[in-house]
Amino acid sequence: MLFGALEAGGTKIVCAIGNENGEIFEQISIPTETPEITLTKIAAYFKKHPIEALGIGSFGPIDLDKTSPTYGFITTTPKLAWANCNLVEYFKKELCCPIGFDTDVNASALGEVTWGSAKGLNSSIYITVGTGIGVGVYQNGSLAHGMLHPEAGHILLAKHPEDSYKGKCPYHGTCLEGLASGPAIEDRWGQKAINLVSEMKVWQLEAYYLAQAIVNYILILSPKRIILGGGVMHQTQLFPLIRKQVKELLGGYIQTKELDDLDTYIVPAGLNDNQGIMGCLELARLSI
Ligand code: ADP
Ligand code: ZN
Repeated sequence: MLFGALEAGGTKIVCAIGNENGEIFEQISIPTETPEITLTKIAAYFKKHPIEALGIGSFGPIDLDKTSPTYGFITTTPKLAWANCNLVEYFKKELCCPIGFDTDVNASALGEVTWGSAKGLNSSIYITVGTGIGVGVYQNGSLAHGMLHPEAGHILLAKHPEDSYKGKCPYHGTCLEGLASGPAIEDRWGQKAINLVSEMKVWQLEAYYLAQAIVNYILILSPKRIILGGGVMHQTQLFPLIRKQVKELLGGYIQTKELDDLDTYIVPAGLNDNQGIMGCLELARLSI
């Protein structure tokens, strides 16, 4: 079966054609301009292929409540041209097929549980550390929604006593995203993260905040595995630093077989940065 996959990010939009096995046959990437310009291009691309359904993983916040009059909308996004954009209705009309819809990070979480590092588990979380920080939550065999969807990249954390950085989040200053996203690293240290590879103190501090967040996620959600992806996590030296601090912060309070082996509990994404677009294929499959 042929499915369409649409991963909508703030700077670029990836469109792909694939199947129910997560195989991608072709894909294109276009810049995110205004909805008027960009949506027309996307629809034209998918119309060239006989897809059975389209899966969309979108930046947000988005409305995922199927009983809501604004289901399928991007809602209050800071990308103002896209606020109140009815994505699901637009593609339903243009493509006349079922549309699966979720957040970009939930799509990545779904890709990872279907084919990647959490394959076969009924509970896991996927954390992306990139331009922003987002968390996709998979629990009891499905993606967690609620009144909206989790926004666990914005949880509030204790500042490191030696960190005087004011934080990058326009809403909360020093939430996790404000302290540990790629732009926060760049702003705090005056250089792009990629140029700070040999600065141990940068990664110690990054791990300090990610470990705090992960401990909170463990205590609240009890995931069976935690996957970290996104641009910043290409710094693989972060993994052992994070694991060590998670162990210390948990203080032995929880004892499970998963936590006995943090090397297999806190792991990198397993799909070569295709977890998002592959997750969109699965969203498409689940919509029919
Ligand atoms: P996005 O979040 O926009 O989808 P990414 O996940 O690539 O895209 O995140 C981009 C952020 O990650 C930027 O702030 C960039 O500086 C940082 N980044 C990208 N690649 C690396 C890398 N190899 N090492 C460290 N930081 C990186
Ligand atoms: Zn925030």
